[in-house]
Amino acid sequence: MIHCPKCSSEVLVETPALGNIPLDVCPACSGIWFEKGELEALLRQSQGGGQADLQLIAPKPEGQDCPACKVKMSHGGLVNPLLLVDKCEACGGVWLDARELELVKKLLGLTGGDSVVKVARPSSSPAAAPARDPKLILIKIAAAVGAVAGLVGLSYQMYLYFSPPETVSRTPSLAVAVVSVLLFAGGVLALNWGKEDRWR
Ligand SMILES: [Zn+2]
Ligand SMILES: [Zn+2]
Repeated sequence: MIHCPKCSSEVLVETPALGNIPLDVCPACSGIWFEKGELEALLRQSQGGGQADLQLIAPKPEGQDCPACKVKMSHGGLVNPLLLVDKCEACGGVWLDARELELVKKLLGLTGGDSVVKVARPSSSPAAAPARDPKLILIKIAAAVGAVAGLVGLSYQMYLYFSPPETVSRTPSLAVAVVSVLLFAGGVLALNWGKEDRWR
């Protein structure tokens, strides 16, 4: 695991971004880490021969800390004095900021593609199913209880209404019937809430 030298909490993600050499890219700042020899190999592919070891132009000891060996890297020009990179003198790795990728691609003779390499953070536990929201389950239970209560209340009012008055002790109440209907309708609506494709 290599941490981004700029975003200490981010872990670089390996991706086949340029050519067929896997690069380590930061998911947050899209900076690229080239291990020793990777950038040289890309340059050799595009320019043919030479440049076995890349020396920085006018290196200054003001780079980021090397993500591999944690020592301060040198900041300087790579082949082109405008292409400023951080190079670790200890392990030979090169750190490239996202905005410098365009220059590198020109240098490599690559055109097209995205100007920034985007990678997604690896999910920590891809196998874990999305946990159901316990609050949502409570709401569903309440909705189901409400719907059943509304149905029972409405049935009872209907029973009172349609029975001969002398056989029942209570008179039907329109208010209770309306509340029951609302309870039932609200409960059914709430039960279906959040189901995919329901409202689209
Ligand atoms: Zn980063
Ligand atoms: Zn290093």
